[in-house]
Amino acid sequence: MAFIPYSTQSIDEDDIAAVTAVLRADYLTQGPAIPAFEEAFARRHGAKHAVAINNATSALHLACLALGVGPGSLVWTSPNSFVASANCALYCGAKVDFVDIDPTTRNMSLPALRDKLAAAKAAGTLPNVLIPVDFAGLPCDLQEMRALADDYGFRIIEDASHATGSSYLGAPTGGAWSDLTVFSFHAVKIVTTAEGGMITTNDAALADELRLLRSHGITRDTARMQGESEGPWYYEQTALGYNYRLTDIQAALGSSQLARLPTMQARRTALADRYDTILADLPVTLPYRSNDRTSAWHLYAVEIDPAGPSRRAVFDAMRAAEIGVNVHYIPIHTQPHYLGLGFKRGDFPAAEHYYAHAISLPLFPAMTEQQQDFVASTLRAALSA
Ligand SMILES: *Cc1c(COP(=O)(O)O)cnc(C)c1O
Repeated sequence: MAFIPYSTQSIDEDDIAAVTAVLRADYLTQGPAIPAFEEAFARRHGAKHAVAINNATSALHLACLALGVGPGSLVWTSPNSFVASANCALYCGAKVDFVDIDPTTRNMSLPALRDKLAAAKAAGTLPNVLIPVDFAGLPCDLQEMRALADDYGFRIIEDASHATGSSYLGAPTGGAWSDLTVFSFHAVKIVTTAEGGMITTNDAALADELRLLRSHGITRDTARMQGESEGPWYYEQTALGYNYRLTDIQAALGSSQLARLPTMQARRTALADRYDTILADLPVTLPYRSNDRTSAWHLYAVEIDPAGPSRRAVFDAMRAAEIGVNVHYIPIHTQPHYLGLGFKRGDFPAAEHYYAHAISLPLFPAMTEQQQDFVASTLRAALSA
């Protein structure tokens, strides 16, 4: 069987037609495809505003800036994430800390968050911003996090890079609980624009600020200028922004992909359900399920029983069979850059324990049941070796 990646993009003829239509039109960037994508995305995710950004890393950076994160600020996130979830605070000159995960959900632990907030309040070190991460596409306990945010006075940037199209308490991710929600459109994510990201919010002022910051801090809107317009050429830079814009080529691909999100989502869900069934008797912990939320199923990650063969042995056996398993995530605080900031191994034991036994199995919309059966039988053999 040919190599089976852990994830891969799903591109069809409509996607190709959408991209080539932009290539034949007047604007390659900053044209009509961007607002069309933003509006469709906002509608689909139950948010008032969506701001397209060139990738989710930039989006997290701008989200922090828009919420006033800077030197002296404190940002907390999950150690079980991609480094971008924490780096965004460092870009702003803020300090980062982590809240350990719940070993069952693999998301930020609510009890650990409550304890850490109580201790921080006593010590006068409450965070300004919390960045919960919807690991593997499963929404965090956002209703409770929202209540804690309102009690303690911090803001929430939800890193929903894995979670496009997921839902929690009946509402789509991106509209209900967080001040800002960030999505990634990297090629391995749920919908792709090759590279790309989006921030959703219900706060019009935050959306305006994000639009300003993604394009150099420059405005052409006379209502937002500090001085008088000097003519049709005139613009003002009113803040220090960046070039974090998405292109029209990418936005057209994004809109085309978004139209197929329900189909792709149904396929991911069916494959995840099927994994649950065919792996049920193996000595692995399967992904958490809960009736109050639906996962986007970016990843199907299992945890190997520590009593059996090592994760390394299982991983190597799968790769030897041309199965592109992967591991998500090396706990951020154990990265050399973060050890250099004073974090230590052992600081967040649940994330470290999860990392030591985790394997992400292949899951993508075009995956066949035959491929999935091969993954399951190879895993079965590796676990009994
Ligand atoms: C992919 C990812 C990012 C970064 O996304 P890019 O679009 O590649 O910048 C951030 N956070 C998480 C959790 C991710 O998985």
